[in-house]
Amino acid sequence: MNRSTIMALTGELTAAGLVHEEMPTDTGRAGRPSLVVRPQIGRAYVLAFDVAVDWLVAARVGLGGVILDRRRAPRPRAGADLDRVVRVLAEFGRRLHEAAPPDSVCVGIGASYCGMIRPGDGMVRFGPDMGWVDQAFGAELGRRLGLGLPVSVGNEAHLGAQAEQRRGAGVGFQNLIYLHGDVGVGGGIIVGGKLLDGEGGYGCELGHMVVNPYQGRPCGCGSRGCLEAEVGERALLDAAGRPAGLIGRDALRDVVADADRGDPVARDALHRIGDWLGIGVANLINLFNPGVVVFGGMLRDVYPGMADPVRARIAANVLPVAKERVRLRTSVLGDDATLVGAAELGFSDLLADPLGVLARPAAQPVTATPSPVAATRLRPTPR
Ligand SMILES: [Zn+2]
Repeated sequence: MNRSTIMALTGELTAAGLVHEEMPTDTGRAGRPSLVVRPQIGRAYVLAFDVAVDWLVAARVGLGGVILDRRRAPRPRAGADLDRVVRVLAEFGRRLHEAAPPDSVCVGIGASYCGMIRPGDGMVRFGPDMGWVDQAFGAELGRRLGLGLPVSVGNEAHLGAQAEQRRGAGVGFQNLIYLHGDVGVGGGIIVGGKLLDGEGGYGCELGHMVVNPYQGRPCGCGSRGCLEAEVGERALLDAAGRPAGLIGRDALRDVVADADRGDPVARDALHRIGDWLGIGVANLINLFNPGVVVFGGMLRDVYPGMADPVRARIAANVLPVAKERVRLRTSVLGDDATLVGAAELGFSDLLADPLGVLARPAAQPVTATPSPVAATRLRPTPR
């Protein structure tokens, strides 16, 4: 674009309160410097939700992925049905909306869910850890929030991949693989800057790549020896000899801490599980030739203890030219990766048509329960 077009567009966005211009810090060059355009963080915001394995989060997020306000509740692993999850999130969402500054506007709603999501209407087709099958999560959350805005829902690892690429460990990379560990392992693959989502939106289930078919551990999916069965939370805790009832992130961090202190059982557990992780990562590097592999979720905590066996597998099993440029990194956004990804989903409409979205009637909590038809109007999930 030429300079006058850029100035006209910037002027419109500045007048709408979406960006501001500022003088650059020392450019080191002579002459009048060009102004820098930055997002105006507080004017337009989205509500972002995260249904993770151990917690529920709602946040008000400004342009640029800045988390302005948040509410968080622990989530029991058992007994979290749709009604209970949506009730908590909708209450959080309404409070965040009410607490927003009066001159700000809610421009979208995005949600991350730890399962397989149908694009378009946010239906949870399969949520293995809660046992959800075909639950209308997006529609129900939209109805309970009553803001007159649809809720765009995405798979947590898909959203984590996009968030890390835009704002985290994958900035500058067009080819990225994100592995999100928790009870299982989810995945997001970005090729040429685009998420691989598959024919139905259910692609990148990297956790169910079979790495150990003959003596492998049974997987929650019904198969055996899937990557997530071999490297998930239970596999590591079992390998480290921890009691069967012990679960959660702190228990995993304890294994890493024990290994750092030289405990041979913990070190051996990380080495053995790291070998399985390395086999999975080696296959992925051969297949996709990524610029970076990002370890998120609980893998962010345990990867440092597994880096040696993972690198050994890559050295042994990846084609020489395919590994020349690959970097291995832990998530920069940490447990906010999925939430920030959900916020990006919520901002999609605004980024596509900023002035058109701001011209819409403001999102208001309605006093009467909205009709399901009005609240669940369908549209393609923006990518
Ligand atoms: Zn499986």
